[in-house]
Amino acid sequence: MTPCLFCRMIKKEIPSRIVYEDDDALAFEDINPQAPVHMIVVPKKHIDSLSSLTQTDKDLMGSLFLIVNSLAKTRNLTPTGFRTVINTGPDGGQTVHHLHVHLLGGRQMTWPPG
Ligand code: 5GP
Ligand code: ZN
Repeated sequence: MTPCLFCRMIKKEIPSRIVYEDDDALAFEDINPQAPVHMIVVPKKHIDSLSSLTQTDKDLMGSLFLIVNSLAKTRNLTPTGFRTVINTGPDGGQTVHHLHVHLLGGRQMTWPPG
């Protein structure tokens, strides 16, 4: 059994509130939302982090951001804006070591991040 939490969610070994799925990607509601809208978009292929990307992942990364774009439109975030976050490694605050994009919206975000 894979120890990776998001791989287990992709395989439906662990339930999640799925908002989008295709052959290459899955998107689901974050279990601990930090904004009125907080979704996670993951590639089905296990990639540890942004640091592990290679040239072969070029199209896949483009697809992930088009999914973010589409989900933002579906949740009516586009007129007011939204935030995307990719935490990478210990200093980046990454806690699940399967590359993922956070889509946060529905409130005013602040800067700088913590
Ligand atoms: P990271 O800190 O690695 O950037 O983000 C991991 C995210 O995964 C966190 O926002 C956390 O709330 C979310 N998360 C952790 N475990 C689960 C889970 O079992 N289900 C869902 N839906 N989200 C999870
Ligand atoms: Zn994984």
